[in-house]
Amino acid sequence: MNPALSRYLISLSQRLSGADLLKRIRELQSSEYMPRDQMAELQWCKMEGLINHAYKHVPYYRRTWNEHGIKLSQIQSLGDLKKLPFLTKSDVQNNFDDLCSEIGPRKNLQYGRTSGSSATPMNYCRTQDSKARFWAAQYRAYAWYGIRPGDKQGRFYGMPFEQAAGAKEKIKDLVMNRRRLLGMFDLSEARLATFAEQMNRFRPVYFNGYASWLSRFAEFIGSRTKSQYNWIPLNAVVSTSEVLHDHQQKVIEDTFECKVINEYGAAEIGLVAISCPHRGYHTVPENNIVEFALPDNVHALGKDEQSHRQIVITDLHSDAMPFIRYKVGDSVSNLDVADTCSCGRTSQLMGPVQGRTFQYVLTPEGELRHGMIYDYMLKLAGPAGVGVLSACTRQRDIHTITMYIVKNELFTDDFLVFVRESTREHISPTLQIEFEFVDELPRSPNGKLQSFATDIDINAELSKMKND
Ligand SMILES: [Zn+2]
Repeated sequence: MNPALSRYLISLSQRLSGADLLKRIRELQSSEYMPRDQMAELQWCKMEGLINHAYKHVPYYRRTWNEHGIKLSQIQSLGDLKKLPFLTKSDVQNNFDDLCSEIGPRKNLQYGRTSGSSATPMNYCRTQDSKARFWAAQYRAYAWYGIRPGDKQGRFYGMPFEQAAGAKEKIKDLVMNRRRLLGMFDLSEARLATFAEQMNRFRPVYFNGYASWLSRFAEFIGSRTKSQYNWIPLNAVVSTSEVLHDHQQKVIEDTFECKVINEYGAAEIGLVAISCPHRGYHTVPENNIVEFALPDNVHALGKDEQSHRQIVITDLHSDAMPFIRYKVGDSVSNLDVADTCSCGRTSQLMGPVQGRTFQYVLTPEGELRHGMIYDYMLKLAGPAGVGVLSACTRQRDIHTITMYIVKNELFTDDFLVFVRESTREHISPTLQIEFEFVDELPRSPNGKLQSFATDIDINAELSKMKND
């Protein structure tokens, strides 16, 4: 599709839903060099409004702040935000109804469910305008690399299992000028070759997707004659949802001859930080207040872990369901970042995020499937998954996956059937899945919760299979 037509359709669909994306982008572009004292005033103005609204109209905050003996009159500046208690993922999981605003539009909200990359799926909602502001922050940054809304995008994301959701996603792909690496989590060479050919006809301006998929595709393209691909160089590659490792960034940048835009955010709060061409990770002060808090149980941690800081977000436009001092569940290890970026943009900088790294499932057939597939299962289990508080999976050997489940009284065996069937359909017909019910999910040696982890040395196992 012509990018201008796509841009028009995106803008039109936004306006029909009651939001104005292009206006929000222009607003953000006008404030990216705003002096910091002015930005602080703008943030305070938004924060004061949000906190008043939350106290008056959101039962959860009214109750919690009363319990903590907090009076609104104590909150008189940005610094006073620290007087308010944190909001954790389990608070959100357990108080969805009480976290929703009693006033404001009930209809036309965007309802979502996080995929549970930290193993705790939860529901959230937000206004269409708040969603538009999140997109606008992304597009403001993409513009630094010459990318505009409607530009052709090659996409490396999964597709919802469920038919209606999948159909909706396909329409969005069409309107937004995106072509997706289809085939649920199948990263075989044949699939990648077909996609590379498809890109020759489509001629994307940029790629967007999971770091591990992008780097695998880059390795594949790098092993072939690059001149046969007319879409190289790209303007940029957007890496999202996972931690981008240095070696992955290098292979992506070398192969596609462009820079990687590394973005960090979460579905429930939007974009938190994004890299500029000068390599600074810029926060989005117009949308969020970012704080860095001491880790929980800090005294029990090793010296390295003690220096980590948890990311805490106040989403300034979250009126429908306020996220105030929300612990996203990710952390940064490097707080020693420059105060300002050489690009001249004034927003606060932060270090790269530790956290979500995904691994591959190796099937008995010798195929690789992205470990995130189990995230999608948690997200899409629907009514079958209501009794699942959290879950994670681990592959101990090539034939067996173990799923650990923390359940409540609503749990039914429907969930086990769903996971077994989804595994058979989307991963492997012969891979066995076992279930273990636990009170607390097992953590990796560094204390992290991962939705999927593997004990298998995949390269060694694959070469063994080749030789057999
Ligand atoms: Zn910068």
